[in-house]
This record gives sequence, structure tokens and C-alpha cells, in this order.
Amino acid sequence: MKTLWTASGWAAAALLAFLAAFGASSSDALHRWDDLLVEKYSQWSQREVPSDIVVIGIDSRSLAELNSWPWPRRHHARVLDFLRDASARHAFVDIDFSSSSNAQDDALLAAAFARWNRQQVILPLFLQATSGSEARLSLTEPLPAFAKSATLASVNLVPDKDAIVRRAESSWSIRNGTAPAVFVALAGGSHTGEAMPIDFSISPGSFGYYSYVDILQGRVPLEELRGKTVLIGATALELGDMQPVPVHRSLPGVVIHALATQTAISGPVKPVSTVVSLTLLVAWTALLAWLMRHSRWSVNLAITTGATVAALGIGLAAFALRMRFDVMPLVVAASGNFIGVTIASLDAARLRSAILARLARRRQILFDSVLESSYDAILCVDQSGAIVSANIAAQSMLDSHVDQLRSRNISAFLPDIGAIGGPGELAAMNGRILERTIHLGDDRSIPVEISTTVAEHDEGRHFTLILRDLRERKKQEAALLHQATHDSLTGLLNRLALFEEVDRLAKNPDTRAMAVLSLNLSRFKAVNDTLGHAAGDAMLCYAAWRLSAVMEGHGALARMDGDGFAILARCDGNREHLLQLVHSLGESLRRPFDFEGIPIGVGLTVGIACFPKDGTDAVTLIKNAGIAVQRAKTFSEDFSFYDPDADQHSVRRLALLGELQAAIDSDSLELHYQPKVALRTGKVDNVEALLRWSHPVHGSVSPAEMIPLIEPTEMLRPLTDWTIRRALEQNCAWAKQGLHVGIAVNLSARLLQDFAFPDRLAALLAAHDVMPCMLELEITESAMLMDVGRALHVGRRIRELGVSLSIDDYGTGFSSLSYLRDLSVSALKLDRTFVDDLENSPGNRFIVESTLKLAHALNLVAVAEGVSTQWQTDYLRNLGYDFGQGYFFSRPLDAAACLQWIMARNGQKGDVRAHEIASGSESAMRSGSALTR
Ligand code: C2E
Ligand code: CA
Ligand code: CA
Repeated sequence: MKTLWTASGWAAAALLAFLAAFGASSSDALHRWDDLLVEKYSQWSQREVPSDIVVIGIDSRSLAELNSWPWPRRHHARVLDFLRDASARHAFVDIDFSSSSNAQDDALLAAAFARWNRQQVILPLFLQATSGSEARLSLTEPLPAFAKSATLASVNLVPDKDAIVRRAESSWSIRNGTAPAVFVALAGGSHTGEAMPIDFSISPGSFGYYSYVDILQGRVPLEELRGKTVLIGATALELGDMQPVPVHRSLPGVVIHALATQTAISGPVKPVSTVVSLTLLVAWTALLAWLMRHSRWSVNLAITTGATVAALGIGLAAFALRMRFDVMPLVVAASGNFIGVTIASLDAARLRSAILARLARRRQILFDSVLESSYDAILCVDQSGAIVSANIAAQSMLDSHVDQLRSRNISAFLPDIGAIGGPGELAAMNGRILERTIHLGDDRSIPVEISTTVAEHDEGRHFTLILRDLRERKKQEAALLHQATHDSLTGLLNRLALFEEVDRLAKNPDTRAMAVLSLNLSRFKAVNDTLGHAAGDAMLCYAAWRLSAVMEGHGALARMDGDGFAILARCDGNREHLLQLVHSLGESLRRPFDFEGIPIGVGLTVGIACFPKDGTDAVTLIKNAGIAVQRAKTFSEDFSFYDPDADQHSVRRLALLGELQAAIDSDSLELHYQPKVALRTGKVDNVEALLRWSHPVHGSVSPAEMIPLIEPTEMLRPLTDWTIRRALEQNCAWAKQGLHVGIAVNLSARLLQDFAFPDRLAALLAAHDVMPCMLELEITESAMLMDVGRALHVGRRIRELGVSLSIDDYGTGFSSLSYLRDLSVSALKLDRTFVDDLENSPGNRFIVESTLKLAHALNLVAVAEGVSTQWQTDYLRNLGYDFGQGYFFSRPLDAAACLQWIMARNGQKGDVRAHEIASGSESAMRSGSALTR
């Protein structure tokens, strides 16, 4: 198969080469190549030949000596006579005689020509293309007077495309006949019309040469010219008759004619016949094919080169034998043979392996560039762990050049791998990604992520380790962790971190005791609101800094939220120690901190929950410490330990709050009414509505517990609306039953901040057929501690509705007289704590008296609450109080009981022993049994 392939390939190649060579021989480019070769041959074989040709040059010297141009024609006549005298064989005068000069000279010249035999003297004809619409040839010829005694021959030389004259046409068509070329006229022979290649290997030195002036002056002996073929023409450069030619670059036209003439005389170089050329080409191709049949391409190349040189040699030798042999086909055949044989010698397998090798090399280059540009360090180690290669990143990571690395084992950098079992360990790492540490000596180490792959091959196994530097990632992780576990403002641990820390300790079986302290900064909100957030932040940082100093070594301090901090104190649970710690914390904040020159004091409230008593996990401990701190704040204490009983209470309250809404919706709330008795008359024209809730589980729930619970919530509004509606309904109901009394409803201070309340109140009044003056709203002094402007606005609008306002619990808060006036309240209700111990307390008596004076001074009705004895009643009436209210007269009664009670009381005249009626229980009242007494 292989032989067949080789043989057919060889044959095809040889044929190709042959055809190429043969085809190429006719191509224009190769012709030019051939001309070049001929020129070179001519140059190399430049020679002088024996010649009868003499050139008489109209040269620079002649021009200089004769000192005028054109010369008088008598000179030419003289030269012609001289040549005739010397018996020259031919005289060709390459001078333009187509126009006449002066008659005498022309006559002299014509006479000189006439003395010659007509065949011997030759004058030039010149064909020239005329420009114009019809391009045609114009003929320049000598005047008839001269022409009639001379042979006329064409001096035209046609250059090739490259402007070089290589050939001479043997004849030219003129008018009705043909004119021979000069060389034909001089050398004789036929003028067939074919062009003759001029043999430039003939040296112009073969010709005799004389200056025109020397001939003219008779300085040349006659013998020199005897029998010679003489050509007279311009050789002086300045006369411009130079033509480009091969070998000599350029020659005067007259010398070219001389060369052509000599070529014709010597016989021109003849082309070798086509049959011979073809035969030789075939033999040549076959010979080369045979020579190249087995050899390697380099030998074949040498053969081809040798063949080319040989072909050129053949061409040269032929030229020397005056034969022109085209060697280019031989050269092309040799090259074609070589290419064909080389292609044929490449069999499929070698071709494939060559292509594969090339691809492999390209892949290798690509692979190397990937390796080197990798940001990860890549090491290749052998089975023993010895480093085989390392990319640039690996060299920089391991701080060594690859040459140094090659002498080392990977375990020097990764002791883990070495210790566990060297290469064995490496194999186990295959395909896994592990985090390890690279050791670089002098205590430097780099955390890395290693991924390993094993490559099995003929010589064993290699491991590729890709090491990714984790330093940056570790740094980022640490930063993120810090961010996630620390408060950005104070740099303390955050809530999450504290939870984790507490849980960690709680879960540790060695932890016997610890405490969680919840810390609350007092005055933070005020500072934030009045001095701005910058001051608030400064305050927090200051506190954080001081508190951490105390906690150093004793536990962890964290910021939980706003002004809340928490501490995890590692302590033995000893109460004294905890108190000591709380004291130190408080002390640390005692000195006020300075904010832009303003000294700001920071107070601290602490709630404490102890492990395991108050909780065994972070959530419970931290929640309970929070409850404790709230309790401490409620009671204005500096600290408080968590008390599960107190907490029970708060759970109940939360539950109540949830149930209250349902109670409003299901109308299971109720109003009871406590009469206000006019002390002077003993009559009742006013009652106070008080809320009652009988809870299915807890029984009667006091409004004193319920109202503070509701006050901060959204439920306050619906509850208030419900109370007012209920009171108005009751008022209507009583009116229908003939009882006309005013009703006072307690109003939470917060509602005096509610701009929408007066509208709702107006709507309620409108919905019930009650005169607004029958309604009174009792507000506490605390209403004035909120936004005063707002409270005054809302109060004024209530007053405008015709509803009156009174101040409840007067004396327990802070009331400015101007507020009382601006709100235009109609009554002051002295708080019952002042009435309570009236009998024994001169201080209380003083307040009771001064309040009365104030009330009357402001034209307000004075009411005393909590009246529970006859003595108190008498005292207050004698003092001048307008109304009394209290258990002495009546406890709060349900609507029906209240109606009966008032009817009975108002029906009686004089001083009623009200306490007798009221001393029974409320339920007794409801049954009405007391009324009958
Ligand atoms: P208050 O407005 O000062 O109401 C008088 C409270 O004193 C009533 O308690 C009443 O039962 C009690 N009281 C009356 N006479 C005497 C007495 O001689 N001795 C003693 N020790 N107490 C007497 P109550 O009904 O438990 O109400 C407590 C507080 O709850 C009220 O104090 C009032 O501020 C608030 N409150 C009651 N009902 C409502 C309401 O409908 N809305 C609002 N916002 N607050 C209400
Ligand atoms: Ca009241
Ligand atoms: Ca009161």
C-alpha cells in the first residue's frame, strides 16, 4: 500500500513538474527571465572578434575642434572622398540629410556621393510615427540629390517593453516597397523581415574607431581604411543618439548598427530546435526523477540545486557555441520534481504525526501561558513529593525561584502533607479541596486552599497542586465577623454576640453561676432630642468606654439597642458581689461627660437576672434582666433583681389587655356612678361615672389597674368613646325616669393631645339627646405635662362644645394657675389623699384650706374626694367646699341603685345620714335594701 502510494505520488509529481516546466517555457515572465540569462551570458562571454568594421565617431573632440554645429556639408564631402581614396568597402553615413543647407555645400556633397558606387554608400531612412488624428508613419529620407547616388537603409531600432534594444528588424516597409535595415545593407544577405537578436557578447572593441576630425584633417593613414566597412555617426553624448542596450547599459546608435552588422557577418546566435529542447527536457526530467527516487528531502534539495546550476551551465555552453538554449524549463522541471518527490515521500502517518506534533506544540504553548498567567500558585510534584515545576505565582508565593524549588520536597512547605504520609497523602487528596497552611520558615505562613489532581503516565504519577492564597479572604471574613458581632458606634459586642456568648456559657457544664445585667442609661432620650444625635452618640460612646473599663476581666459588655446595654458577668452568683459590681458601674458614670462645653450627667438603671435561678438560656436571662430593669425604672430605683412574682403580675396585665378589646366589643364593661353631694344642701345634682369590668376569671378588675395599661395603646380611644356614649345613654335613660343629674366622665390626659377628639365628642353629643352642659370631663394635671399648646387647643374646643372640664386629683401633680385659667376649667377636685387623714394631719388641713381659697379665687367649684367620715364632711362644709364625694355618702353604684339612691336623697330634705346608706356593700346597694333603711 505504502509503495503504491509512493509510486503513484511520484509519477503524478513528475508529470506535474514536466507539464509545469513545459507550460512555463512559453510564458512571458519566463521569456523575460530568458532575456536576462542571455544578457548574463553575453556579459560573461564578452569577446573581441576579428572585424572589418570601422566606426568614425562624431565625438566630443571633433565637435570641440570644429567648433560649430551643424558642420558645413563640405566636411562630409571631404570625408567621403577620403574614404573613397582609401578604398573603403562601404560607407554608412548616419547623418540626417533630409533638408538642404547651402547650395554650394550641398553641391559639393552631392558630387562626393556621385563619385561612389551606389551600392557602397548607404544613407539613413527613418520611419517615425506622427502624432495626430490618424497615426501613420512618416518617412525621413535624404534629399533626392544625395539619395540618387546612395543605397537607402532603415536606421530604426525597436526597443522591447523595458525600452532596451535587443534585436534589429531586417527590413521595413516603406511606401510601395521595402527598405533593408542598415546591417543588411552593410553585411549583405536577405532581408526576410525577421528580427535578428543582436549579439552583445561581441565587444565594441572589436571595431576600429576614429574621430571624425582626425579623418577630416587627414591624420589617419589611408591604409587603415582599406576594404573596411565604415559607419559614420554621432558618438558624442551631447548629440543625444544613445540607446539602452543589454550588457553596456547604453550605446550610440551607430555602434549598435555596427554590432548588428557584425552579428550578421559572424552569424547570429541560433535557437536550439524545439525537438532537441523537448527531447532534452524529457530526458532531464526522467533522470532527475530517477536520482531523487529514494533520497531524503535534503539530498533531493541538493540534487535540485545541482541540476539548476547544471542547467545554467548547459545554457552557457550552448551560448558559447552560438546556440541559444532556453534553460528555464530544465530549472522548472528540477524544482517540480523535487516538490513532487517530497510530497510523495510524506506518507499519511508521517503527515498526521507532523500535524499532531504541531497541534501538541500549540497546545503546550497555550497551556504554558495559562499556567504562567494563573493567579493561583500551581506546583507539579512527583511521587516522592519532589517539586518538578512551579508557575510564576507559585514562585512568588514560596518566595523562591523555580530552580531552587526543583531541589526541594513539598513537605518542606506543607509539613501536614509530609507528616501524614507524603505522597500517599497526596493521592488521598486527589479531587478534594483542603485548607492548609504553607510554612515559609522564619515564622512566615500563608493559609491556602489546596486542590490536588493526579496524572498517571508511563513513568509513574505526578501530582498537580493548585494553591490559592486565602490571606485576603481570611482578612475579609474576620472583618465581616467583627461587623456581624460588634456594634458599629461603640465597638462593643452587639446583641447577637451577647446572646451567643450567654448561650455558650449556659451550655457549658462547668458554668455554675453567671448573671446577665440589663443596663439603661437615663436621660439619653432627652439628650438626643435636645442636643441632637451627635450628643446622643457621644454619650453612648462615653458610657461604653467607662463601663468597659469596669468590666475589664469581669465579663462581656454589649450594646443591645438605643440606650440599652447588657453585661454578661462571670460571677459566683453572690448577691453582695453583684451589688458591688452595680455600684462600680454607677460610680463609673458619676462624673458628667462634657459635650462641646456642656456637662451632661448620665444616670444608670440596672436589672439583674441570675443563672440558673432566673433562666438557663440566653433568651430567658436577657428577657428577665430587661423586665427587672423596667421594674427598677418604675419604682425609680437604681437597680432591681428579677422577681418572678412581680413578673407574674405583668403577665396577667398583658393578658388582660388582650381580653379588654373583646370586653368592649361584647359590652361586658359597665359604668358605676358615684354621686357628688352638694355640701350645703345635701342634694345631688351630679355623679361621676367609673368604669367596672367583671372578668370571668379574675373577677372585678379595678380601673386603676386597667387604665394605665390601656393608656399607651390604641385601645384608649374606643374605650373612651364607649364610656362617654354609655354615660350619655344613661343620662338620657335617667332623664326619662325623671332624674336630671350631670355626669362626669374621667378623661385620660392623652386625649387632650388628640385633635380629633372634640369632633368625636361633638358627634356623640349630637347622637344623644343630652345638653352638653350635663357632661363634665375630669382630667388630671398630668395633661399639662405633655404638649401644653395642644392640650389648651383641644381643651378650648371641648369648652366650645359646652362641655365643662374639671381638674381631678388636684394637688398630686403640678398645675400652673395660668393653665387652669387658660383651659377655663369649672371645678377643682382635691385629691383624696389630702382628705384621708384630715383629722390628724395639720399639713393636710393646710393644703385643703389653701386649695379652697385658690379655687374660689379663680371662681372654680371646689370638690373634695374620698370623704369617708362625718367629721370630714362637717369640716369641709364649714370650710366652704361646694361638693363632697366619698364612701361616707355612697360607694359607686350601678345605674339602677344610683337612681334610687339619688331619688331617695333628693326627695328628703335636710341633713341626710348618708353614710348609713353608703356603709352597705355595693351589691347591697344594688339590691336596694339600704334604701329602705
Ligand atoms: P378617680 O377619678 O379619682 O375616681 C375615684 C376613685 O376613688 C374611684 O376608684 C372610687 O371608687 C374611689 N373612691 C371614691 N370614694 C372613696 C373613698 O371614700 N375612699 C376611698 N378609698 N376611695 C374612694 P375607682 O373606681 O377604682 O377608680 C380609680 C381611678 O380609675 C379613678 O380615680 C380614675 O382616675 C380612673 N377611672 C375610673 N373610671 C375611669 C374611666 O371611665 N375612664 C378613665 N380614664 N379613668 C377612669
Ligand atoms: Ca375622677
Ligand atoms: Ca380623683
